[in-house]
Amino acid sequence: SKRRRRRPILAACTTAAPATVSSSGVQQHNHHHRHQRKKDKMIVIMGATGTGKSRLSIDLATRFCPCEIVNSDKMQVYKGLDITTNKIAFHDRREVPHHFLGEFDTDEVGELSPSEFREQAELTISDIISRKRTPFLVGGSNSFVYSLLVEEYDPDSDVFNGLVNSNSVSSELRYDCCFLWVDSSLPVLYEYLDKRVDVMLDLGMFRELAEFFDSDELDRDSEIRAGLRKAIGVPEFQKYFKKYPPGKYKGLDRVRGGAYEEAVREIKENTRQLAKRQIGKIMRLRRAGWDLRRLDATAMFRLLLMDGSDEDDSDWRSVWERHVLEPSVNIVKRFLEE
Ligand code: ATP
Repeated sequence: SKRRRRRPILAACTTAAPATVSSSGVQQHNHHHRHQRKKDKMIVIMGATGTGKSRLSIDLATRFCPCEIVNSDKMQVYKGLDITTNKIAFHDRREVPHHFLGEFDTDEVGELSPSEFREQAELTISDIISRKRTPFLVGGSNSFVYSLLVEEYDPDSDVFNGLVNSNSVSSELRYDCCFLWVDSSLPVLYEYLDKRVDVMLDLGMFRELAEFFDSDELDRDSEIRAGLRKAIGVPEFQKYFKKYPPGKYKGLDRVRGGAYEEAVREIKENTRQLAKRQIGKIMRLRRAGWDLRRLDATAMFRLLLMDGSDEDDSDWRSVWERHVLEPSVNIVKRFLEE
């Protein structure tokens, strides 16, 4: 089935070219693209879960506007579970248009494959470029990033999992990419991720999951909402809600016989594993010749982990600027001027 996507209503900057693109405009652009040797420019922000990719994308997109962001987190493409999948909040987007963020109904599409993402995101990116805006690709799903960016994509070759030698990882890309990789020392990131899980629970992750499971789905390991079912938090709490169905136990204390703590423990462990795997995949791309510029956010996480510090702190902000934002601004500036 064909999926329809919303067009952005708000532009980040008033200097933007008018958005007068029709479907024929998109075709024209593709035609133009094929006959021109110069590739279209794109900023790509990579990094493990929790490293601050969204924040960096907004800080840069508001500075180098007009820009638009294409999400490449495979769980955030679906509608629903906004807290659990950690989608950037609407007010934090600072009017920068976002694409592929909560756009797909997992009841309709099941699971969005990397090939489908490639096909659809390509059109969106052509459209962004035809409106004279700079596309940012932002999100931690390396299979999505890879499928979209390589010149030739083979859906049958899984370049990240299993025993694939790095020769099979392509470094021929169809865009002129500026890669920013937000990284951190792993032990420090692990500690920060544990803390972030607690923050997400405080923000209402438990309630969100209770609503997700507040149906007859618990006993049917069905294909329904196949995509979102894999989001960290869903399988872990599925066990809990099987024991304590959300409708039945509404309003009661969530901590029951250690089942809640067990789910939280599993979420923290699985989040750490995800981060580690994502960094492994990024390093595989780098070994294959992808020109990734690494930005080290460790100092920022160290500061955030200190007692009493919170994300509104100005100390934290200045460390972020010095270690991550300023070097990124310089890299992007040079790249766009080239
Ligand atoms: P692969 O396709 O090999 O699983 P990938 O690079 O495509 O990896 P990842 O982003 O690493 O995709 O996601 C792998 C798994 O991690 C997802 O299936 C999901 O379980 C979990 N995950 C990823 N992103 C999120 C998220 N935003 N929220 C919750 N869980 C997530």
